[in-house]
Amino acid sequence: MQPPSETTDPLSRLMESFQKLPGVGPKTAQRLAFYVLKQPEVFASSFAQALITAKESVKPCPICFHLSSQAPCEICQSKHRLQQQVCVVADPRDVFALERTQEYRGLYHVLGGVISPLDGIGPEQLNIKSLLERTLTLDEIILALPPTTEGDTTSLYLAKLLAPLKITVSRIAFGLPVGGDLDYADSLTITRALQGRQLVS
Ligand SMILES: [Zn+2]
Repeated sequence: MQPPSETTDPLSRLMESFQKLPGVGPKTAQRLAFYVLKQPEVFASSFAQALITAKESVKPCPICFHLSSQAPCEICQSKHRLQQQVCVVADPRDVFALERTQEYRGLYHVLGGVISPLDGIGPEQLNIKSLLERTLTLDEIILALPPTTEGDTTSLYLAKLLAPLKITVSRIAFGLPVGGDLDYADSLTITRALQGRQLVS
């Protein structure tokens, strides 16, 4: 099904489509549209196919909620990862950021956001129940949530929830810029943050 478009003119429609992407204004949308039109036919078809295939096949992993075309994802399936250690992150982008460090060898759990009452996001909206269901097989949980007020609130909430369990719970030490995303930090900063993680329960 094609989403309804505001216009039927193909060029306008292409520009409108680009403008729906985050951070793309009318000028950039126009530049991208002209760029696509200048490329050989195969460029557009393989670009369109990549969009459709990714959208159809990439889904949240049923165990950790990282995005993957496999279910469970490659990380959950890997025998080389530490099966008793789980790093809790807000977003799939954070998994990529941590993987880039090549420092972390455990598994992940993607919450799908952080607790943010102003945005109507409470614990029920996040993948917290599924995290608790995983705790039976775990020794250690590392909280790697963003260094924001919401990230802190979420870490404290999880630390309290996990405290009665026989699991080591730590938070990564933030040499990370306050208010920044894990995604924007360089690998060395994330590696140090992981190594300097501090016990919370
Ligand atoms: Zn997974």
